[in-house]
Order: sequence, then structure tokens, then C-alpha cells
Amino acid sequence: MTELATPPIERAQDVKRISHWIGGRLVEGESGRSGPVYNPALGHQTGAVDFASPEEIDRAVQAAKEAFPAWRSMSLSKRTAIFFQIRELVHDRAEDIARILTAEHGKVLSDAMGEVARGLEVIEFCCGIPELLKGDFSEQASTGVDVYSIRQPLGVVAGITPFNFPAMVPMWMWAPALACGNSFVLKPSEKDPSASLYTAELLKEAGVPDGVFNVVHGDKVAVDSVLEHPDIQAVSFVGSTPIARYVYETGTKHGKRVQALGGAKNHMIVLPDADIEMAADAAVSAAYGSAGERCMAVSQVVAVGDAADRLVKAIQERLPKIKVGNGLEPDVEMGPLVTREHRDKVASYIDGARDQGADVVADGRESAPDGDGFFLGVSLLDKVTPEMDAYKDEIFGPVLGVTRVGTYNEAVRLVNENPYGNGTAIFTRDGGVARQFQFDVQAGMVGINVPIPVPVAYYSFGGWKNSLFGDTHIYGPEGINFYTRGKVVTSRWPDPETSKVDLGFPQTR
Ligand code: NAD
Repeated sequence: MTELATPPIERAQDVKRISHWIGGRLVEGESGRSGPVYNPALGHQTGAVDFASPEEIDRAVQAAKEAFPAWRSMSLSKRTAIFFQIRELVHDRAEDIARILTAEHGKVLSDAMGEVARGLEVIEFCCGIPELLKGDFSEQASTGVDVYSIRQPLGVVAGITPFNFPAMVPMWMWAPALACGNSFVLKPSEKDPSASLYTAELLKEAGVPDGVFNVVHGDKVAVDSVLEHPDIQAVSFVGSTPIARYVYETGTKHGKRVQALGGAKNHMIVLPDADIEMAADAAVSAAYGSAGERCMAVSQVVAVGDAADRLVKAIQERLPKIKVGNGLEPDVEMGPLVTREHRDKVASYIDGARDQGADVVADGRESAPDGDGFFLGVSLLDKVTPEMDAYKDEIFGPVLGVTRVGTYNEAVRLVNENPYGNGTAIFTRDGGVARQFQFDVQAGMVGINVPIPVPVAYYSFGGWKNSLFGDTHIYGPEGINFYTRGKVVTSRWPDPETSKVDLGFPQTR
């Protein structure tokens, strides 16, 4: 695996220093502030990531600003050639990237490979940028006058990303942003920052000019500097709902275009006519994959009528077979949580739910592997009601709740009354009901017998309600719109026969 070009460190042994990437090279932070990076499976610190000051953010923005004119002027065919090169490198080094993800996030290697593969789809979509940027043309809109539309890049744009997809979510942003001709400043999660530096090296190797892609690490200080910086035209954010709301409000107040994707509480409805074995497989996969740290994880099953007993039993039967451990071991299916604090917070929902009246069918604290890693086994809570904290909060861990209702209408009402609206799914054999669900339900991404309906790269990803602040979804056609501005040109060529002075308001002729 390619080593990250991080300089030697004078900190505790084996703790590497993780620096910024500005203007095509590593730049050590000078703020004196840094944050710890852990290997969650081992439970110890492996890195210290520099936290950027406002001056360091400005340095990255200036590098991006300088690089922008040449990058946006590069012909579409040359930019496309670079994108094909990026595609090849990410494809060839997918396992290197995945190993970095497993080391800092904790997700199992196969899941990390899946993350890279889904990000790669977005890069592949962006290889079609000449087609995506095509405008319209109307010949003879008026006599001798043609009208055409073009889309142009915004300038310097920024991305602020969460810990749970340290490679894929940045790809959702930088790939379309760069393909459209923008230059980019990425502020990745401070919990697992190394994948973005590796990406920076790959982009340089692929031929992306220095300054077009920059990485600055940090916390609220860095985020606020991005949101307030006058030279940043647009901000894409993915993270929790309170920060998404803050980023949207602050960024737009400073005149920026903002898309801010927030948290989720994804409900999976199971009707009595569903294939219960298939529904149980789906619920287990979607609830506990990546230890539940996915914004599209199913965290709440809504079992309708007599589906409930059969479904809870089928889910329960599957739980002892899930192998939890270090994500580098080949047969392990679920890794640790990202930090000790997060693991403890997730675990606290188990007692909380019991105290509030739920049945704890499986308690993940009892099945967690030994060792210092931030492990928690899988938990299943039955008879969860909407008043309980385990229902109301996005737990973001391997805890699945089951709520029992009598009818389809009650189930849909629960989804629609929920403040989040990211993903949702229905399991049924009844096509008419499934179609009604797609019509009724208030969520941005809907699965019909599909538990994690993350759209393919040529559609766009985004939720409703508190899961998205802003007008456009991310990647796909809406991503291209987000990172470009429209311009309409009305054009006439000198024609001595029709030329005359006319002070009237221009009208079509
Ligand atoms: P987070 O909101 O804590 O952090 C996201 C980013 O915001 C990070 O870069 C972080 O440094 C920054 N940040 C954190 N606190 C801040 C503050 N007070 N002020 C300014 N910036 C701040 O989210 P997380 O814990 O890294 O990620 C998990 C969350 O992300 C979950 O809620 C999950 O649902 C959500 N998520 C949503 C999607 C989606 O597509 N809707 C995708 C992935 C993750």
C-alpha cells in the first residue's frame, strides 16, 4: 500500500502527523491546535491531525483561486482525459483507500471497498462531463438572432464532510465540482482525515494542476472560516442535522450557494404479505452494516399487523451469526464504532429504551468482543414507541428498533410525521400498495423491497425535511447544476441589410 507522505513526528510513538494539502503539496499546520485520530479496532491513537486557523484556510482558498482561471479554461476534452485518469487510479488503488478507511473509521474492508466503488461511480459519471455541460441552442429565435445557454463554473467551492464515509462523500462533491471547472477546498472529518490526503496525491498523479484540489483539516474554527470566506462561492456539507442547519444558515447569510445534507431516521415498513425471510435479511444488513454508522441505515422497522412476531423472530435468529471484530480480518462482518465516546453514547440507548418500556431482545454490550477497541455488538429493541428516545434520536450505531402498528396507514403516518426524511423502504408483495407508498411517503429516497435505496450516480442523492437544507440534492444532474451557473446568450451577427437604430424595447421578429 502507498504510504502517505506525512513528515516524521515527534509525538508519542506510532502517532503520525496529518497535515494540510495546499497548492499541490503537504503543508504542516501552524496553528498549534490538533485532534487525535484513532484506530477504533485497537482503541489507541494512531494520528494527530492539524487543525487549521483562519489564515491557513485563507491560504488554501488563495491557492484554489489562483488555480481556477487555468482550470476552467482547459478544454473539455483535456479535463475529461484527466477524469479518465482519476478513474483508473481510484480503481487501481481502491484497496489502498479501503485500508485507510478501515484503519481510521473501523468499517470492515469489504464495506470500505463498497464505499470506494460507490464513489467511483460518481467519478465515472463525471467522465461524461462534455455531455453534461451541453447547453441548448435556438436558431432564429428572432430574425437573424440565435439564443443559446451555457453553464459555467462558480469559482472556488468548498466541501465539509462527515466521518462515516471519508472517501465516498468527498467524491460526491469534488468530482462534479472539478469536472465542471471549479477549484476545491475540502474540510474532511477530523476523525478520519487520511483518505482525503491520499485522494489529493492521486489527483495530482492524475494530472490535476496544483491548487485545484486542496485539503484543510480542522474543527469549528475551520468550518466557520470556510463559511465566512468571501472568495468561496458555494459550500456542500454532509453531516448531522444541527450542524447542517447551521452551515446552511451561516453560508447563505454570507452570500454562498449551500447544499447541506443532515441526519436521518430511516424507517423500513414491513407489511404482513412481505417475504419475511427476505425482509429480515434486509433489516439486519441495513441496520448493522458499517455498525449502523450510515445515514441510509435502517434504524427503525415498522412491522404491520401479524408481520411483527414473525419478523422479530427471524431477525433475532440472524443476530448470533454476525461476526464483530477488527475489520481487517476476512470473516468479520461488523467493525467497531468510530470513537469510545460514540460507542458509549450508542450503548446508553439500550438501558434508556428498557427504562422507557421497550423489550431488549438483544443487548449488544453482551456480545461485544473483548479488547480495547470501540466495539459494541448488535442490539434489537422491540415494542419501541414514538415517545422513546431510542425512536426519536438518530442513534447512529448498531441498534435496531421495532415499532408495531396495526395498519399501513399508521405506518406511513409514522414516516411522514418524523422530522427526518432521508430514506425509507417498504417490504410487500403488493404492487398497488408499493405504488401508493411511493406516492404518499415524505422522504427523498424510497426503496421498494430495497432497504438502502442510495441512488445510482446518474440520479441525485438527498433527503427531505431535516435531512436536507438547500434546494439541490447532491451528485448526479443536480450536482452539476449546483456547481455551475447558467448563462443565456442572445446573438446577432452584423447584417447591413437589417441594421437600423431602434430605441424600442427589443422584440422578437
Ligand atoms: P458532524 O455534523 O458532527 O460533522 C460533520 C462535519 O461538520 C465535520 O467535518 C465536522 O468537523 C464539522 N463540525 C462538527 N461540529 C461542528 C460545529 N459545531 N461547527 C461547525 N462544524 C462542525 O457529523 P458526523 O458525526 O461526522 O457524521 C455523522 C452524521 O452525518 C450523521 O448525522 C449522519 O446521518 C450524517 N450523514 C448524512 C448523510 C446524508 O447524506 N444525509 C451522509 C453521511 C452522514
